[in-house]
Amino acid sequence: MAVTKYAEWEWVEALAGFHSVFGENRPQQLAERAPKLPKVEWHLIGQLQRNKVRQAIEHANTIHSVDSVRLLERIAHVAATLNKRPKILLQVNVSGEESKSGFRPDDLCAAWSQITDFQQHVDLSGLMTMAPATEDPEAARPTFSGLASLRDKLMGLDITAECGIKLSELSMGMSGDFETAIEFGATEVRVGSAVFGERVKPSE
Ligand SMILES: *Cc1c(COP(=O)(O)O)cnc(C)c1O
Repeated sequence: MAVTKYAEWEWVEALAGFHSVFGENRPQQLAERAPKLPKVEWHLIGQLQRNKVRQAIEHANTIHSVDSVRLLERIAHVAATLNKRPKILLQVNVSGEESKSGFRPDDLCAAWSQITDFQQHVDLSGLMTMAPATEDPEAARPTFSGLASLRDKLMGLDITAECGIKLSELSMGMSGDFETAIEFGATEVRVGSAVFGERVKPSE
């Protein structure tokens, strides 16, 4: 996935000529950009507030950043009213850093039977994580292997199969560590600066 969050619109448009999966981290920017490039598959990768859920579902094919049961519940509810069944990835804070959002692995397992109930209204298609930000891609190994084993653990539970959940997507790896992520089974890498160059975050 090409992460377009700070990319100039001209670049995004140009890339859309030969690349088809884009990720935005803010629902607002997603809502502005997605309708202009309807052939692209747009994903939301950044934190989602409950009051932006409708906007996210209307414009994103997949939401990578579902980090609480409360948010999932809201998504399922809005999806039902819109007659949609969006693809959802559950964000996991594997590294345990305070600054990162996401389910703690233990909490995700503890809430699993509650989470699987939502499969009717959302397609629980996988897990997402972010590795600690360092210059050393090797440092990401425990995070990526941790996400892969968590997926295996959840797939081993009877309730997962009973609900028809496959968890086939592992969204992990960014510009600095995507090769390592692929070694550990990433099906989706979220690459921004390696495609568009280093960008500065625009002031809000
Ligand atoms: C910005 C961002 C990326 C891409 O990061 P790069 O290091 O620029 O490749 C990937 N995932 C998330 C959640 C992001 O916010």
